[in-house]
Amino acid sequence: MKLTFLGTGTGIPQTRAQSGLIMEVITGGQKKPLLFDCGCGILQRLYESGYDHRDIDTIFLTHLHLDHVSDLLGLLKANWLVGLTGTHIYGPVGTEEWFDKLMVLYPYLSDRLDVQITELTGGTVLMVDDCIIRTAPGIHSVTTIGYRVECAGRIAVYTGDTEPCYSLTELAQGAHVLVHECAFPLGFEVENHTTPDMFAKHISKHPLNVERLYLTHLYPHMQGHEQEAIDYIRKVFPGEVYIAEDLMQIDV
Ligand SMILES: [Zn+2]
Ligand SMILES: [Zn+2]
Repeated sequence: MKLTFLGTGTGIPQTRAQSGLIMEVITGGQKKPLLFDCGCGILQRLYESGYDHRDIDTIFLTHLHLDHVSDLLGLLKANWLVGLTGTHIYGPVGTEEWFDKLMVLYPYLSDRLDVQITELTGGTVLMVDDCIIRTAPGIHSVTTIGYRVECAGRIAVYTGDTEPCYSLTELAQGAHVLVHECAFPLGFEVENHTTPDMFAKHISKHPLNVERLYLTHLYPHMQGHEQEAIDYIRKVFPGEVYIAEDLMQIDV
């Protein structure tokens, strides 16, 4: 499995694009990119990454905040422009209603797209393209789910936006890679997101058995505090800790 961070930022403009991640899996002997979240800037990053938008027909949404979905319609339109209309979108409860409302605003697309939507709750287990996908709920200001993807014995987990929480820690146990949000720096007072001290406190109580941790969804407030975040979490986490960057690729 290979991960490509398309966007590692948030709702405030900065050098990082908003949220988006590709997990490249092997299905039927072929490489296939699964897209997780599609915030503003992800369509451009997709191009820069070398992936072809025409190969994206399976998309997983953690939640429906704009920094995770802004470029989704643009991606569907890009594929329609080259004659590809079939897309399967997995997302939390509410995804279907949200998409139907978008289609009311863009009836010309509604007639041309063939979008299948599957709504998932935390605790779902399903097979997608030879991968076992498991979900768990996060703690955020809206309904949100994290994803565990297991393919050919390799496991990656993506949290989306969340406070550190037991359900996602459990989802991640035994994973080779965990991509966890870390929106704000050490000591920042916040709810619904994660800071290094919130994360360290949580895994002190719920030890995390993961090989590598990648921190993403960084607000501009994190600039200059990246190494501090790594050092703080390393005090209580025995695995490797990295700050994700746009267009960074890692093998899982
Ligand atoms: Zn959010
Ligand atoms: Zn977000």
